Amino acid sequence: MTGRTIKIAIPLPPDEGGYIGRNCKNCQNYFKTKPLPGSLRESQNLKCPYCGSNDPADNYTTEDQLHYARSKAMRQMIDQARNRLGKRVDKFNRSTGYGHIRHTSTPLPPVRRYEEKELETAVSCEHCGFEYAVYGVYAYCPRCGTRNSVSILLRNCEIVTKELDRSESQKEADRDLYERRLRSCLTDIVSSFDGFGRDITIEAKSRDLLVNDFRSFQNPENAEKFLKETAGFSIQEMFGPEDWSFFKRCFEKRHLFTHKSGIVDALYLTKTNDREAVVGRKVSLTSAEIAKFVGLIAKIATALKESPLLSP
Ligand SMILES: [Zn+2]
Ligand SMILES: [Zn+2]
Repeated sequence: MTGRTIKIAIPLPPDEGGYIGRNCKNCQNYFKTKPLPGSLRESQNLKCPYCGSNDPADNYTTEDQLHYARSKAMRQMIDQARNRLGKRVDKFNRSTGYGHIRHTSTPLPPVRRYEEKELETAVSCEHCGFEYAVYGVYAYCPRCGTRNSVSILLRNCEIVTKELDRSESQKEADRDLYERRLRSCLTDIVSSFDGFGRDITIEAKSRDLLVNDFRSFQNPENAEKFLKETAGFSIQEMFGPEDWSFFKRCFEKRHLFTHKSGIVDALYLTKTNDREAVVGRKVSLTSAEIAKFVGLIAKIATALKESPLLSP
């Protein structure tokens, strides 16, 4: 006896954010994507945002989705068979008059419902616009393979800019709180730049563009050296001498706030030539200064968008 394969297409319901869950068979990690465009659904490969494995979209179906689809297909088949059988029984009743033959129905098997998981970061790809969500922060776009390092850094620039605007509007209400917020904006954007550096270092290593270990982007000279080596790109050249000095000074100010309670020391003066600063006094920090610093970081991110270091 030969078996017959019946194919039933069961569409997967997106969650309330419009995402469909995916599970990588290579690294066993979970992520979500917005539905793929209809015509590409069957044929398109997806790249795992975590491990970079590249497989047909169907291979990323989760166990929960499989249980759901099987139970739904089973229900549809039983329902169709029952309808066909019901019509025959009706015909039989009519033709013979045996009214005591009754076709009674038992409940259909239940559909195995499931919920997609909550993830930590939602990303819209800078390159192709595809939307996906992951645990952690940094990832590959499942559709075009672009690393999201630039998107994440630009988004952090936006967040800090909004926070600066908000702080400015509440400046007069509480001066101490305002200064604290400015310091945290500066610290946040330096941390974001450092996280970006860490991520693109891992990427450069995976592409055999770099042999050295990670050296923190909290030091702008490290960032300059790294980008020259891996992307043939110089921050210093792009900025010009004035902005480059300003850029380095912002990192030194952040260092003072993090490690010296914001008090100027001799080393700060040697490194920055900051004419306004006096040893033993608080270093100044303005909202305009941080806004300019954030703008310069966004300029680096934008310049690296098309870099071979981060291309798919
Ligand atoms: Zn994977
Ligand atoms: Zn993409």
